[in-house]
Amino acid sequence: MPHYEDYINWRRTFHQYPELSDAEYETTKRLRRILESYNITILDLPLETGLVAEIGQGEHFVAVRTDIDALPIKEQVVHEFTSTNEGMMHACGHDIHMASILAVATKLKEIESQLAGRVRIIFQPAEELGYGAYHITDTGAIEGAKAVLGYHNYPTLDIDEFAVKSGVITSSVDRFEFKIKGVGAHAAKPEQGNDPVIVLGQLINSVQSIVSRNLSAFDNGVVTIGEVSSGNTWNVIADEAYVQGTVRSFDEEKRNYIEKRLRAIGSGLAEAFGVEIETLYHRLPGAVVNDEKLTEDAIEVAKSVGYNVSIMDQPLTIGEDFSGFSNKYPSVFVFIGSNSEYDLHHPKYDPDERILEKVPDYFVSFVQKLLNEQSK
Ligand SMILES: [Zn+2]
Ligand SMILES: [Zn+2]
Repeated sequence: MPHYEDYINWRRTFHQYPELSDAEYETTKRLRRILESYNITILDLPLETGLVAEIGQGEHFVAVRTDIDALPIKEQVVHEFTSTNEGMMHACGHDIHMASILAVATKLKEIESQLAGRVRIIFQPAEELGYGAYHITDTGAIEGAKAVLGYHNYPTLDIDEFAVKSGVITSSVDRFEFKIKGVGAHAAKPEQGNDPVIVLGQLINSVQSIVSRNLSAFDNGVVTIGEVSSGNTWNVIADEAYVQGTVRSFDEEKRNYIEKRLRAIGSGLAEAFGVEIETLYHRLPGAVVNDEKLTEDAIEVAKSVGYNVSIMDQPLTIGEDFSGFSNKYPSVFVFIGSNSEYDLHHPKYDPDERILEKVPDYFVSFVQKLLNEQSK
């Protein structure tokens, strides 16, 4: 039976060997080895990476989910388990998630004969790309789940802190791109070209007007341009320019509206300046929506295992592809403190490992509670 020290070791090993989304081959093998060493059943599913394990018996089941991928970030934290995979880092704490959910699996395995149902433990790939949840749901392995439970470690909360809210808890995350095609020329002869950089400048301003001028004071949304590029020297008018960024919103109506405005800005500026503008809008994960009853249950269970629970008054503007589960099955996604000075996705992100003390208890108690209720 593994203990806290084992959880720490698992986490450090995952941390040392991070792998990018949809390429978590060694991570999957490592997970498989650990699960098999505790005789935990792994479902036979057509997954390239990631896996689903199963514990218990009976007709109904609940699911617990962790993500397993890392980010293309060069780690700046120095410890004995610093990433040795060049340019990759578990900067979102999915190493913590994996270790804690492995702990959940082994704890549940130990009480398997007492479980009043089954639990499917999801080790999901490609969360950072926003669609890994669908790799799992596409296999049908979660079809019929009575509940799906998940969490994210959260740096600004202390390790005994737990935050949740009913309803929408994370925003939808979309990506937009503008590809501007002008006409290049000698920098001294602008009349012979059609400068895409001028259009780019207009586009930046216009895009910023969506939230400030089109959404009401009571609506929420974020539109951020993260990248612009054009040209490569001082005395040439470039022939192309490129802009990309992200949209965060909390309901479908605003999401659709922002997309419509972005497209209108693209076509309007193309018309006004006589350039070609291709506007691309990529819909990534939708908002995670917590089930009301499960949220109440989560609060009760969290308190029972010793967390200080706070109810969030607003959703977070981060994205989370747990929405791939929450939009199909009753779900609850929570935030548990990891007490790091630096934020998620930062090269110095350094979660407090003591988060691994209580997280397993929360999920084990929650699973037991739900299975007991279901069997009544
Ligand atoms: Zn992340
Ligand atoms: Zn994450």
